[in-house]
Amino acid sequence: MNINIAIDGPSGAGKSTISQKLAQRLGYIYIDTGAMYRAVGLYALNQGRDTKRADEVVPLLPAITVEISPATDGQQVFLNGENVTDKIRTPEASIAASDVSAIPEVRAKLLSLQRETAAKNNVIMDGRDIGTQILPNAQVKIFLTADVEDRARRRLEQLTLQGVNTTFDDVLKDMQYRDKQDSSREAAPLACAPDALAVDTTGNTFEQSVEQIYAVIAEKLDNLQKIHNYKPHWFFKFAKGLLKGFFKLVFRYKVIGAENIPQDEVVIVCANHNSLLDPPFLGANLPDNIGVMAKEELFRIWGFGKLIRKLGAFPIRRGQHDIAAVRTALQVLKAGKSLIIFPEGGRFKSGTEVKGKNGAAMIAVRARVKILPMGIIGTFKPFRKMRLNVGKPIDLSEYYGKKPETSDYNEITANLLRVIGELKELRIEN
Ligand code: C5P
Repeated sequence: MNINIAIDGPSGAGKSTISQKLAQRLGYIYIDTGAMYRAVGLYALNQGRDTKRADEVVPLLPAITVEISPATDGQQVFLNGENVTDKIRTPEASIAASDVSAIPEVRAKLLSLQRETAAKNNVIMDGRDIGTQILPNAQVKIFLTADVEDRARRRLEQLTLQGVNTTFDDVLKDMQYRDKQDSSREAAPLACAPDALAVDTTGNTFEQSVEQIYAVIAEKLDNLQKIHNYKPHWFFKFAKGLLKGFFKLVFRYKVIGAENIPQDEVVIVCANHNSLLDPPFLGANLPDNIGVMAKEELFRIWGFGKLIRKLGAFPIRRGQHDIAAVRTALQVLKAGKSLIIFPEGGRFKSGTEVKGKNGAAMIAVRARVKILPMGIIGTFKPFRKMRLNVGKPIDLSEYYGKKPETSDYNEITANLLRVIGELKELRIEN
């Protein structure tokens, strides 16, 4: 598996210097996608074209080949074989890059080059739309910001070092122009992906920013490693295979939206709950690193308790605030295991109104993991059709690191139950 790290943000937020440093530290390839737009912009300028006009730029595209070759002291950029690494750094090339980058055909041309490189390597890729469009499945996404004057000051220093002769006012103006154009354009505007971590580097030294982001990446990679190194008990594997075969044969079910199940991320799985067979049914269809919270009474049944423990269940006392269960849940998630939690807090007869329990939402926010909603459709009656309808993961990052109110949790849970409600309404066809 290749690791892809997406770093987006406006011009001058420090993306390239920070990404380069991180790439060195991690031994990854650094890809500066801005340089590719700069190369296209430079070509259009050299041909005397108006870089803002699609009808003048698009006809040039077949004649343009952009190549990048990562080097230890930064990436080298080649435009039709010529090394343009320095030429693309002028203020004119910056503006031209921003202009041509608003043209969808230009973006389409560079998209495949960017994706192909990321598919083959461990990369840190920086740009404007990496987390949102180019690598939506990147394992780590960072959105770097800083206030515009801070960014202009840093960019001026950088340009002066590179021997470019310019003033603070000019750099600031250039930055404001590009900010506006990059954020307001229709094609892949500069935006923070919902699952990206926003890092504001205003007032930070370079080293502080690097350390802050490195810590985020290291934690994420550590979690990934735990997930991939997770070795379930042989009995779990055996029982899972057996159960899956049994469910397939007897209940003729299909999984819809299986692509929504994250393979390298810990999540809390939440579904509607009507039958004792729901937990094993879900477990059989999820990655191996899955656990389930089950009511304590079940663990008191002789033999059964031991069995379900082996299958990944752990006890929760119902009806009271079970701090121990919450703590265990957090530990389980931290150890790289996903969890099944039924937000309705127990089985209920369909048709009855239920008010959800906030436990899943609270644990998800505390553990900083997404909730994966699912709808179990049909009843476990032999040879009737069933479906497992998997929804898109729900991102709660806006609450991370805050102390959400009970009303926030009520809202998250109500929304979750609404999503599950919709998922389980799907009609079963053939
Ligand atoms: O990052 P850099 O300042 O070198 O990028 C130059 C220009 O290229 C940006 O102003 C932006 O308009 C464009 N760009 C983009 N999408 C990317 C990277 C850069 O539109 N992924």
